[in-house]
Amino acid sequence: MNAVSKSPSPVPAGANQATRQITESDAELSEILKEVSPVALALSAVHMSGSLDIIRSGVKTKPPARHADQTGSLSLEDAANFRHRALQIIAAWRNARQPAPYVPTRSELQEMINFLFGRDIPAAYMPLVLEDMAFDGEDARAFRWKREVSEARKQSHPVVIVGAGMSGILMGYRLKQAGIPFTIIEKNDSVGGTWYENQYPGLRVDVPSHAYSFSFRQSHRWPNLYSKQAELLAYFCKCAEDFGVLPHIRFRCEVSAAEWVESESLWSIGLTNQHGSEETMKAQSLVSAVGFLSRPQVPSFPGFDQYKGIAFHSARWRHDVSLEGKRVIVIGNAATGVQSIPEIAKIAAHLTVFQRSPGWSLIIPEYHREIRATEQWAIEHLPYYAGWMRALLFNWCQDLSPEWMMVEADWPQDGRSVSRVNEMLRQLMLGDMQRIMADRPDLLAKVAPTYPPFVKRPTLQTGNFYETLKRDNVELVTEPIESFTATGIRDRTGAVHEADVVIFATGFQAQKFLTPMVIKGSGGIELNEFWQDRPGGYLGIVVPRFPNFYMMYGPGTNLGYGGNLIYNSEMQSQYIAGCIRMATENSWRRLEIREPVFAEYMARTARKLEQFVWSTPYGTTYFRNSKGKVTTNSPWSLFEMWNWHREPDTQHFLHE
Ligand SMILES: Cc1cc2nc3c(=O)[nH]c(=O)nc-3n(C[C@H](O)[C@H](O)[C@H](O)COP(=O)(O)OP(=O)(O)OC[C@H]3O[C@@H](n4cnc5c(N)ncnc54)[C@H](O)[C@@H]3O)c2cc1C
Repeated sequence: MNAVSKSPSPVPAGANQATRQITESDAELSEILKEVSPVALALSAVHMSGSLDIIRSGVKTKPPARHADQTGSLSLEDAANFRHRALQIIAAWRNARQPAPYVPTRSELQEMINFLFGRDIPAAYMPLVLEDMAFDGEDARAFRWKREVSEARKQSHPVVIVGAGMSGILMGYRLKQAGIPFTIIEKNDSVGGTWYENQYPGLRVDVPSHAYSFSFRQSHRWPNLYSKQAELLAYFCKCAEDFGVLPHIRFRCEVSAAEWVESESLWSIGLTNQHGSEETMKAQSLVSAVGFLSRPQVPSFPGFDQYKGIAFHSARWRHDVSLEGKRVIVIGNAATGVQSIPEIAKIAAHLTVFQRSPGWSLIIPEYHREIRATEQWAIEHLPYYAGWMRALLFNWCQDLSPEWMMVEADWPQDGRSVSRVNEMLRQLMLGDMQRIMADRPDLLAKVAPTYPPFVKRPTLQTGNFYETLKRDNVELVTEPIESFTATGIRDRTGAVHEADVVIFATGFQAQKFLTPMVIKGSGGIELNEFWQDRPGGYLGIVVPRFPNFYMMYGPGTNLGYGGNLIYNSEMQSQYIAGCIRMATENSWRRLEIREPVFAEYMARTARKLEQFVWSTPYGTTYFRNSKGKVTTNSPWSLFEMWNWHREPDTQHFLHE
C-alpha cells in the first residue's frame, strides 16, 4: 500500500530532505543560486516559506524542452526573479535557524507538481510522482505481509533468483524484507550485471543520474549529470551491501536449466557451480533476472579464424590490451559505438568504423557535464530540492505524451517520419547533424538515417561522435563486410582495412530471451516452444504452464517511452513479491497465471504495439523479431504499469 496515499500529510519530514546547515552569506547565496534549477528552487522555497506565493506570481513554466532540462523554459528575466525571491526566502529561513520545512496540503502539492512540469498533471498521477520522489526516504514499495504468517511457513517457500544485476539484487531485497529464504545465482564474480560487464571507454547512462537510482535508495552524490559506468557499478555494489543480499549470492555459478517437478510442486534448477561441477537446487519459486541486453552478439564473418590480430566484444573489454598507437576497427555504431569511438580515436593510431546502418542521435550539450558544486550545495541544503529535481529529471510528462513515437493516422507515411511530433524531432536531430557536419557533406550523407526517429533507441552524444568521424585518423566505412583476412577486414569493394585490434560493438542477442537457459514448465514444455514467435508473459512476468516462475526484464518489458529500467525493476519486483506473498499466506504451493488472462494481455499488447513507430517496417531494429513483430518493448505507460503491478489479482491465477 502506498504510504503517500495513506498519510494525511503526504510529505512528512524525513530522510530525503536536505539537512545541512546554511552558513553562507546572502552574497554567497546569490552566486550559488545562479546555477541551480529555478523550478526546483522555487518549489523548495515553498517548503521554507510555508507559502505558495512564489509559484503564484503568474509566471508559467513549460514542460521540459530537452533531455535533462531543468529550466522550465523560463526567460532569463523570469528565472532571475525566481532566484531573487528564493534568495530572500532562504535567507529568512537561515536566519530563523532553519525550522522544520512546511508540509504542503494535497491540493498545494498538485499545484506544485503542475508548476514543476508546466502543465496540468492528472490528479491520479500525484501519488505515483510523490511515491517515486520518496520525499521522506520511505520505501513505499517495501514488502509488507497482509496477514500473520508463521516463520515455518515463510521458510517453506525458498526462492532462487537467477542474476545479480540491479533487478536480482532488488528482488532479493524484497524477499529479505519478507523473511522468505532466497538464493541468488550469479555467473559473474560481482553484482551489477550490465554495469559490471560493460566496461568500454565512454560508457555512461542515458538517463540523468538522479533519476537512475532506486526510489527508496536515492543517491544525492552523483559526480556527473549522467553517470559513468564505474559510478553506477559502485552504486549497485553499495546497494547490494546495504540491502544485506551479498551473503545470499552464489557468485561464479551459472544456471543452465530449470524444470518444474509437478509431483513435488518445486523447481529443479541445474547449474554449473564455482568449481565447474554440475549441481541441482530445488526452489518453490524461480525468478529470472538474467537481463535483456546481457548476452553479447558476435556475428559470424567468413575468414574470422584466419585473423591474427586481437578481437573482442565491447561487453568483454580487454583491459590488458592497450589501444594506444594501434590500428583499430570498431564494428557497429549504435549506443556502444557512439560512446566508445570518440575515446578510442583519441589514442589509436588509426580507427576504422564499420557502419551497417546509420542511427539517430540526440545532441545533449550537457551529456558529459559534472554536477556543479552549486547544484550539489542546493541538493544538500535546500529542503526537498533533490526530490523536485529527481521528478523533473524523471520527466513524467513523457509518460503523458507519447505522440513522438506513435503513428498518426493521417500523417503521410513516406518512411521518413510517422507523425507531426516525430517529424519535428527528425528535423531537430537532422538539423544538429547538418550543423556539425556542415564542412563534411560526404560524411553527412553517410550518417543521416532515412528511416523515422525512434525505430530504435536514439543514442545520446554532445556532438563528439560526429566530430570524431571528421578526425584525420578516423575512417567511416559503410560498405558491408566481406570477410576477415589475416591482418584485417575486407569490405564488399575488395578494399582491405588493416587492424591490430577489432572490437565488436555489435550489441546483444536481444531476441533470445533468457538464453541459453532451458526452462521446462508443467508437462515438460520448453519455454521457447510455448512461446513460438510470440515471447511474453502477463505483464511480461508470468507465463501459463510455468507455475511459480517469474521474469524480470523479460520479453515485452523494455520501456518504450519515459522512465528507466530501475522503475521497471521496482514495479516487477513488487508484483512478484506480491505473488509470493499471496502463495505463502494461503499456503499455496502452485500459482499459475490463467491462460485467458495471459492471452487477453498478449492480444491487447499486440494491438497497442501496432500504434508505435517500432512496429512500422522502416529501418532495422532489435525490437522486432524475424517475423517483423515487436517482442521486446512495452507500449504501456509508467502510470498503467504502476496500477497493474502494485498488487497481483488473485482471480488471475490458478492455485493449489
Ligand atoms: C551497454 C548498456 C547500456 C545501458 N544503458 C542504459 C541506460 O542508460 N538506461 C537504462 O535505463 N538502461 C540501460 N541499459 C539497460 C540495462 O541493462 C538496465 O538498465 C539494467 O542494467 C538491467 O538490469 P538487470 O538486472 O535486469 O539485468 P543485467 O544488468 O543484464 O543483469 C543480469 C545479470 O544476470 C546474470 N546472469 C545472466 N544469465 C545468467 C545465468 N544463466 N546464470 C547466472 N547468472 C546469469 C548476469 O551475469 C548479470 O549479472 C543498458 C544496457 C547496456 C547493455
